Amino acid sequence: MVSIETLSRDELQNEADKLKDLYSALKAKNFTLDLTRGKPSPEQLDLAGELLSLPGPDYRDGKGTDCRNYGGLDGLPELRAIFAELLGMPVSNLLAGNNASLEIMHDTIAFQLLTGNPDSVRPWSAEPGIKFLCPSPGYDRHFAICEHYGIEMVPVPMLADGPDMDVVTEFVNDPQVKGLWAVPIYSNPTGAVFSEEVTQQLASMPTGAPDFRIYWDNAYAVHPLTERDAPVYDILGMASEAGFPNRPLIFASTSKITFAGAGVSFFGGSDENIAWYKNSLGKASIGPDKINQLRHLRFFKDASGVRAHMARHRAILAPKFQAVLDILDERLSESKVATWTEPEGGYFISLDVMDGTAKRTIQLAKEAGIALTAAGSAFPYGRDPNDRNIRLAPSFPSMDDLRAAMDGVATCVLLAAAEKKLS
Ligand code: PLP
Repeated sequence: MVSIETLSRDELQNEADKLKDLYSALKAKNFTLDLTRGKPSPEQLDLAGELLSLPGPDYRDGKGTDCRNYGGLDGLPELRAIFAELLGMPVSNLLAGNNASLEIMHDTIAFQLLTGNPDSVRPWSAEPGIKFLCPSPGYDRHFAICEHYGIEMVPVPMLADGPDMDVVTEFVNDPQVKGLWAVPIYSNPTGAVFSEEVTQQLASMPTGAPDFRIYWDNAYAVHPLTERDAPVYDILGMASEAGFPNRPLIFASTSKITFAGAGVSFFGGSDENIAWYKNSLGKASIGPDKINQLRHLRFFKDASGVRAHMARHRAILAPKFQAVLDILDERLSESKVATWTEPEGGYFISLDVMDGTAKRTIQLAKEAGIALTAAGSAFPYGRDPNDRNIRLAPSFPSMDDLRAAMDGVATCVLLAAAEKKLS
């Protein structure tokens, strides 16, 4: 199809009829395909299969700790050292926890609502109302935490090098703005990588709230799809130098490295934030699952072991991302009804269809047996102001299913656009 804008009404009607035939053929295939969640495929999980037989009979770490027993709130030092190296921060400022970094994000927000943080004058829940800045499109589960606790979300456009800093600096002077969500490397879902300049600005900008926190969710720090690793900027050091040592709260996990349901999470921050977190965490837990940490330590051995393992993920993931990009290009580039990101890492491709047609595209796909993430889910309150964004997750389906699903999605994008133009 040539650019939809250049077609006369008759030509457009003609195209729409052809697309309807294509769509009927698609429906007749009775697909059950799913492009919704960014989960590792079984083949990727197999890469860490050795974990199932680790740690073996030796249950002590290098310091002689009996990992079967209670204790050690900080997590195993040797595993923390590996991830501190990968995240470019001091090991004393990084804790290893249980299986989900999202749980720590949730808990630290709950702790701040209940008691505030080291820089708060009162618990966040005692404030007249608090707000978080939400670079969008972003990660739906971040936004779900805010919505659940009644934290007002302020959308901020997400650009190729991070959040739009003009908008951030405009809003961050408001003392009710207590936080900002950030996925600095291969952001979910656009794949954006925050530049050094944006990172520096975030670390050093003046804020209205003295207890403002950046949720620096580095979920995809070591997940490139090319041979080039993304730079990991030392936001902790930058913030400290700027006089705001407590500003960043850092998160990571091995969910997309080993087992998504049985990995190890990490929490990092200033000495004061670490002490603050441990003070509340220590009331809830006597210590994390050190046996899980020990088996991860034995599996990786060191930071280069993690990178070598990620190269094996890349060998599986990169062709899937390429297949999606090829189909988008073949089917959609001429019609000019959509744009999409070409991420260099992470788990998602962000597809922007013609304004006002994302919901319709997703509905058409659903009726053809292709599940896409709900329209608007990458925006605060599920509201995509332009009804145009669709998050694609290429990792889980087999290559054949992925190709079939993407071809089907392209047909739905075109049909929804033609319908809209004719309406
Ligand atoms: N953060 C981001 C940006 C994610 O995309 C995901 C999972 O998709 C998570 C966190 C979840 O991490 P975890 O499994 O450690 O809770």
